[in-house]
Amino acid sequence: MTAQIINGKEIANRKKQEISVEVEQLKKSGVTPGLAVILVGDNQASKTYVRSKQKTCNDLGMHSVLIEYAESVSEDELLSKIAQLNGDDSIHGILVQLPLPAHISEMKVIETISPAKDVDGFHPINIGRMMIGQDTFISCTPYGILVLLKESGIELEGKHVVVVGRSNIVGKPVGQLMLNENATVTYCHSRTKDLEKITQSADIIIAAVGKSGFITKNHVKQGAVVIDVGINRNSEGKLCGDVSFEEVKEKAGHITPVPGGVGPMTITMLMYNTLKSARNSLSKLQRTNS
Ligand code: NDP
Repeated sequence: MTAQIINGKEIANRKKQEISVEVEQLKKSGVTPGLAVILVGDNQASKTYVRSKQKTCNDLGMHSVLIEYAESVSEDELLSKIAQLNGDDSIHGILVQLPLPAHISEMKVIETISPAKDVDGFHPINIGRMMIGQDTFISCTPYGILVLLKESGIELEGKHVVVVGRSNIVGKPVGQLMLNENATVTYCHSRTKDLEKITQSADIIIAAVGKSGFITKNHVKQGAVVIDVGINRNSEGKLCGDVSFEEVKEKAGHITPVPGGVGPMTITMLMYNTLKSARNSLSKLQRTNS
């Protein structure tokens, strides 16, 4: 039997619709959610991502600001811009597009963003809060995966989730989110031995490896849910994920395609986090005024 395809584009559109309704309501209370995006250098992929973030902001009625710097910008200049945005009441979310040039410390940049405006959810304070199950900004791709699973009616409690990949931005946080939902989580990485044996015991596989077609039908148990985070180009230059989609879909119960699976959820959750931050700032204002 062929797997049910999880349509990330459709779920993302539904969520964006809900967000735009809430943005309109918030505007009536005098607050327009605002996102500032900082882009350093000339990386074409980064430029495309940033454009798409700005367009989505505008489509949803949010305020967006793009700050561009040449590759040669100093770390000090970048950090003082972030400090200025931290104090700007019209900005609720600050995002610095990664990667940054080698002379700028990504960690310093992330730690300079106020945790209250860290809509990427990369600040160690927000990661810590997520670890202990507190309300916080959850990083957008892991959060998008959680929403995809929930919207598809996939139960997580008691399930064995195998995460392949342990990066700080995808693998580690998505595993933690699954644990917070009472799943039993196994992390795999490049030093894992006998990967197939572990993934074959998974009810849900989350592949965040960055290698096209890495997960084959031999990794997958009949009927398992397969979430493909990878964004790669195959030898013909075609966009593809970490999963050999054609063969795995004949064995899996549910599967996300690439493109059209996890990808559209990432920007959607960025918009959700910006809205959430704007709501937080309105509540703070109302508390101060009462
Ligand atoms: P990283 O390169 O930071 O991490 C890759 C992980 O895969 C590492 O933990 C690495 O292990 C592991 N790995 C590599 N080779 C193997 C192997 N042979 N067996 C098992 N594990 C292995 O990548 P990211 O997490 O940043 O991204 C992963 C993919 O997801 C990429 O294709 C990226 O483009 C995509 N992505 C998609 C997003 C979206 O919006 N859909 C957002 C972010 C990323 P080790 O730690 O031991 O090196």
